[in-house]
Amino acid sequence: MAVEAPYKLAGVMGWPVAHSRSPVIHNHWIAEHDLRGAYVLLPVQPQRIETALRALPVLGFAGCNLTIPHKVSALSVVDTVDALAQRIGAVNTIVVEADGSLTGRNTDGFGYIQSLRDVQPEWRADTGPAVVLGAGGAARAVIVGLMDGGATEIRLANRSGGKAHDMAQEFGGPVRAIGWEDRHDALAGAALLVNTTNQGMHGEPALDLRLEHLPAQALVSDIIYVPLETPLLAAARLRGHVTVNGLGMLLNQARPAFAAWFGVQPDVTSGLVAKVQATF
Ligand code: NAP
Repeated sequence: MAVEAPYKLAGVMGWPVAHSRSPVIHNHWIAEHDLRGAYVLLPVQPQRIETALRALPVLGFAGCNLTIPHKVSALSVVDTVDALAQRIGAVNTIVVEADGSLTGRNTDGFGYIQSLRDVQPEWRADTGPAVVLGAGGAARAVIVGLMDGGATEIRLANRSGGKAHDMAQEFGGPVRAIGWEDRHDALAGAALLVNTTNQGMHGEPALDLRLEHLPAQALVSDIIYVPLETPLLAAARLRGHVTVNGLGMLLNQARPAFAAWFGVQPDVTSGLVAKVQATF
């Protein structure tokens, strides 16, 4: 008698978490690859993160994703934090190992870089200076992704100046803090502009940024995905820039996590993109 493949569970832990698109993405791949399993929402309050993570092996989970507010607190709960997640300072993927221990990884930087390559396959991080706006959690993953891709200059501007300076000190290398008021001028000579602030997100005002100094060939990306085209991306498109929205980062960060849990490398197909877009 043939032995059935094990039924595997995965999910996304957050608070709140009902809005997450991750179940649509992972359940699409589970069906596409004819796997036995499910990806579920795991609403977990901040003070229960340790109990919830320790329950994963007991409940037969292969792992889970983490979203707000657990990405940083999980660092001190898991048994091993891999080197990349250490540098980013956050965990977005938990893998339950064969012995029941928990490993924390971070796939957000990979997701961001891959989202650029999906739109512009020949894109390289060392083409020219990158301007990163915002110095929150997502910016850390974007910056580490750019650094590991070989970026030679990353100009980092944040509304609260201290954070950009602290981050530039911590990461060193190509990362240089610039004043928030200097962000318009800092676009001169840039090859990439990325917005990692929440400005332009549904319910927030547009990012206050003048694009006149940005070279015509610069790639403009916004990691926001609601709306798909932020006012920044709309303005950049009207100036003729190639633009990249945040949906690609969301879809691509899911790929290494799915591969770790289910043993299959999934793809971001047009069918998946359409399915996720239909949820907005
Ligand atoms: P976060 O840690 O809270 O950081 C928020 C950032 O926005 C900070 O740099 C903050 O600056 C800045 N900001 C807030 N209000 C501002 C204003 N009025 N003017 C200028 N800057 C302002 O958040 P996060 O986790 O990094 O997420 C940031 C954005 O990325 C969100 O829109 C989120 O949806 C998106 N995101 C997308 C993906 C994806 O997969 N596509 C993944 C993660 C996050 P201060 O330090 O001055 O407050």
